[in-house]
Order: sequence, then structure tokens, then C-alpha cells
Amino acid sequence: MKKNYRTLAYIGLGSNLQDPSTQIAIALRELALLPKSDLQQHSGLYLSRPMGPPDQPVYVNAVASIKTHLEAEELLNHLQSIENKHGRERLGEHWGPRTLDLDILSYGNKKINSPRLNIPHPGVRLREFVLYPLQEIDKNLIIAGVGRVDRLSQKCYANGLALLEE
Ligand code: AMP
Repeated sequence: MKKNYRTLAYIGLGSNLQDPSTQIAIALRELALLPKSDLQQHSGLYLSRPMGPPDQPVYVNAVASIKTHLEAEELLNHLQSIENKHGRERLGEHWGPRTLDLDILSYGNKKINSPRLNIPHPGVRLREFVLYPLQEIDKNLIIAGVGRVDRLSQKCYANGLALLEE
């Protein structure tokens, strides 16, 4: 059945290869072109320390919100094709370097645990490069089943996170 209401979804963006700031800027424009969706807001760009293997370049991260008629799995399909357009190679290394990573952080108030999707994204409560940008775009945001973004960020070590100047 076609759903006739729109879902507010939050998306995390990250890149640490091939001019990461440009990768993120282009990806934000591509999010604005998603079908059945409207880009609502996006954060500034943040420099963050890599998770996982330490011998990789620093990351640029941002978050965005969209209102969408896409189902969560359809949204994931579109995000993965954007990642692929950016030359994303899946080398099998967990948290290894990447040209573009797009994660669905939350999708309305839904909880999804399927082979392809975990929503809310399990990293939301722990990652400074997600929580601080989320707080920037909506300080009153509550992620269902996770908590208030402002409280979570207060408890989250900033780990050198730095907002990039425009
Ligand atoms: P990554 O290497 O971080 O890009 O992880 C990609 C895999 O995570 C994909 O195969 C997705 O199916 C899966 N995945 C699970 N939950 C999510 C989510 N909330 N957002 C994006 N990818 C997800």
C-alpha cells in the first residue's frame, strides 16, 4: 500500500578520501534530488578522528534531514547508489577509509532490525560526529529508543571534533 504521509529521516554523511569536503558537498546536493523527498536541513561540515584503523586520513562528517515518502529500504537503495557514484569500494575492512558513507540514522520513530537495516543506527548514541551535528540542526531532537540528542552529546567526548569554516 502506498503511504500518503511523509517520514522525517536523519542521514549521516562521512568521507575521508578524494577531497572529503567536496564529496560531502556533492552528496548533500544529491540528497536534495532524492525522489519523493525534500531535503529539510543539513549541518555544517565537521572534521573528526577516524574510528577503526588509526592509519587513515581524518574524516569530514555532516548530517542532514529529509522528509520522504520512500520506505526505509528504498531510501537505503538510493543512498547506496549515491555511495557507488562516488566510487565507494567495499574492501571488507570494517570502518576502513571511504569516499562516501551514508547512514540512515533514524527514520521517523521506527525501529527496524532487518538483515539490511538497523534503525535507529546503532552508532548514534556513541558517535560525536553524529551527535554534535544533529544537535546543531535540531537541539530538541529525540531519537526514538535512544534519547535526547542534547543530553547524549553532553555525555559524549568531542574527541577533537572541529567545525570546518565555510
Ligand atoms: P557501511 O560499511 O558502514 O557503509 O555499512 C553498510 C551496510 O550496513 C549495508 O550493507 C547496509 O545494509 C547496512 N546497514 C544497516 N543499518 C544501516 C543503516 N541504518 N544505514 C545504512 N546502512 C545500514
